[in-house]
Amino acid sequence: MGFKTALLAAAIAVASTGRVHAAPLETDSQILSHYLVAGKQVEHVAGLNPVFQQTLVALFAAMPSEIRDNVQILSGYRSPERQAELFAAAVRKYGSVKAARRMVAPPGKSQHQRGMAVDLTFGSKAAKRWMHENVSAFGLRFPMSWEDWHLELATARADRK
Ligand SMILES: [Zn+2]
Repeated sequence: MGFKTALLAAAIAVASTGRVHAAPLETDSQILSHYLVAGKQVEHVAGLNPVFQQTLVALFAAMPSEIRDNVQILSGYRSPERQAELFAAAVRKYGSVKAARRMVAPPGKSQHQRGMAVDLTFGSKAAKRWMHENVSAFGLRFPMSWEDWHLELATARADRK
């Protein structure tokens, strides 16, 4: 058995024990891609800041399985073009730039565009509660009470004016 074959066999052995999240050949963005809502592009997690990726991987690994099964990533990294589209749509929907700014960050101002935020969906009240009670232990927070699904590193805004 060659070295690569041995590595692959080890990965499969780990995967077959059910500890898929510990598979040694997976990168952080590959691990996170398992938690993306179906049909979402891998760029949502591949474009995230590497420290933020690592922190999210640790968070998912620590979740009790019934919680993990009820948390998904709906949105993460957004390109400047995508943020501009979302903002333009909000201006159309809310009638003015001022009103739109309350709901969607303008291009250049979004933590999503910096790869420093994810929006989650919760499949149960217990999952939402667990997350709100536990993310601070990982150096994460939900900074906006009116968007209680929007998760960032606690330090994400420290370098912003
Ligand atoms: Zn968000």
